[in-house]
Amino acid sequence: MFFLGIVIHGFLLRRVAASATPTDEQWAQLNQTVGGRLYTSLPLAASCFSTVNGLPSTPNATECSLVQQGYTQPDFRFAHYSAHMMPQWETCQSTVQRCLLNSNDPSDPAAWEDNECWQGAIAPYYIDVRSEDDVLEAISFINETGVQFSIKASGHDYKGRSSFGSLSLWMRNLDSLSYSANFTPEGGNATYPAITVGAGTPFEDVYSFAEENNITVIGGYHQTIAASGGWVQAGGHSILSPIYGLGVDRVLQYKIVTLDGVSRTVNEFQDPDLFWALRGGAASTFGVVLESSMLVEPQMSLRVASISFNQTADNARGFLELLVNNSYKWGQEGWGGHMGPATLINVNPLLTLEEAQASVQPVVDYALAQNGTAVVEDLPSWQTFFAKYVESAEASVGVQTILGSRLIPTDPFFTDDDGKEALVDLMVKMVDTYAVNPYIIQGTPFLYNYTEGTTSVTPAWRSSLWQIGFHENMAYNATLDTMYAQYEIVNNITSWMRELAPNSGAYFNEANPYEPDHEVAFWGDNYPALLELKNKYDPFKLLDCWMCVGWQGPADERYSCYLNISSNY
Ligand SMILES: Cc1cc2nc3c(=O)[nH]c(=O)nc-3n(C[C@H](O)[C@H](O)[C@H](O)COP(=O)(O)OP(=O)(O)OC[C@H]3O[C@@H](n4cnc5c(N)ncnc54)[C@H](O)[C@@H]3O)c2cc1C
Repeated sequence: MFFLGIVIHGFLLRRVAASATPTDEQWAQLNQTVGGRLYTSLPLAASCFSTVNGLPSTPNATECSLVQQGYTQPDFRFAHYSAHMMPQWETCQSTVQRCLLNSNDPSDPAAWEDNECWQGAIAPYYIDVRSEDDVLEAISFINETGVQFSIKASGHDYKGRSSFGSLSLWMRNLDSLSYSANFTPEGGNATYPAITVGAGTPFEDVYSFAEENNITVIGGYHQTIAASGGWVQAGGHSILSPIYGLGVDRVLQYKIVTLDGVSRTVNEFQDPDLFWALRGGAASTFGVVLESSMLVEPQMSLRVASISFNQTADNARGFLELLVNNSYKWGQEGWGGHMGPATLINVNPLLTLEEAQASVQPVVDYALAQNGTAVVEDLPSWQTFFAKYVESAEASVGVQTILGSRLIPTDPFFTDDDGKEALVDLMVKMVDTYAVNPYIIQGTPFLYNYTEGTTSVTPAWRSSLWQIGFHENMAYNATLDTMYAQYEIVNNITSWMRELAPNSGAYFNEANPYEPDHEVAFWGDNYPALLELKNKYDPFKLLDCWMCVGWQGPADERYSCYLNISSNY
């Protein structure tokens, strides 16, 4: 192995041969330095199979039964290193090597009787990170060995960026939480009410903690997303973002270990360039984040509108027209929410209950005319809303799901009759052509008073009212041909979206995994500066991920499990 030493930021970095394989002795040494918390991994459902990684294995009925019970439960997946919310990222899609259960019926024995179990894309070694020292040791090991590594918090990533390489840093157990009414970013004087959240703390814990402290945290729409992980670093939308901004707007400080092995407290006073990069340049790019501190709001009551009815070929268009026609006014009134051709769950902290009822009356009337249900009510806090509405309605996990999306500019799609009609036509075309429902998120920072240049997300966030996304599910035993066909549907729909709004962008975390021109789509004009910072803070490209800033491209061996979907990366 050859070493080349150079001095950057005053620290000696060593460049080693790419993708080196550490020796058993080196792994053993690493295990010692991280207190015995280096583990080898097997797929989540390995205990069900009689052949694992090509070798005979004795199934363990007790363990297999536990996996079956927890298979589609986010908390169960969150608690297991090998599990990802979208299980295709546990698999090697290109070779169709996997170890999955039937997500429609996890007790279906065909899954393990008809198949072998393969490691897939899951890193064979992982460190259960418990401290900053663990991360420093890991970075030192990575610098010395050149081993390819990834970082996993919750496994929510829609593009498999938390599962690949030989070594993974599993952040889930860095789960601290604290609140200060007078938080001062290091180097500054001003104080803010803020929470500080460890890298692995899930939103469900954050929200309970906020409730106990009579505060509101602006966060995501799923209980096990890691608040300080991929969510905040790439943007982080919430249905309260229309008023209070994106996650990146609210972060005050990060603690991070960069790839030169330096632990930094980063904010607008210290390493402000890196702080800017971490406010939208996305995770797994500039270093390993240990915690983030975020501005909070006082506890607030919410007006909630919840509407649903049975969708038919005849009633979807009318409802979508109502959504498009009302969303600009709703945006001005402070509504945010999730909507579809026959559903709506929106919240508003600004209107009175009476005002809220009047505001959504057209969609209530429409739903009731379809024999649907409509509730408009007052709830005392975000936590009560989340427990009542989100946990029961959120996107399912444990199912192979592909996502695609685009940010939809306010002008002309909500301001001009032709624009509105084109937007409705697009959504109806999705339903009619592929039976794919648009998943509409009114979660852009529409009313938020943004200070220009403070974040690095695509500027498209600031001029958009909606994100339209959609889900395409794949069966657990989908063949290679079927997978390609399903990705093609995703590519077709996202290309329609790009044609509709060519100058807009897409949310890094929720875009088509094979989005063309991803630099422009995810970061717009911010990309060149982000790339410069990537080169500054990770000159040897130790950290790399699919379509991240400075990405080494699909040919790199760590991406061998992705499909070969030809498009213009
Ligand atoms: C069901 C579901 C619901 C969602 N709802 C929302 C929503 O309401 N709003 C929204 O904005 N997004 C939402 N998302 C998208 C979500 O924000 C992203 O998937 C996000 O990347 C998850 O981050 P994570 O750290 O929890 O996941 P992981 O898969 O563990 O990690 C995601 C990325 O972050 C990196 N990473 C994780 N921890 C660290 C760290 N400590 N330091 C450096 N890099 C790190 C990983 O390497 C990976 O690249 C949702 C996703 C799902 C699956």
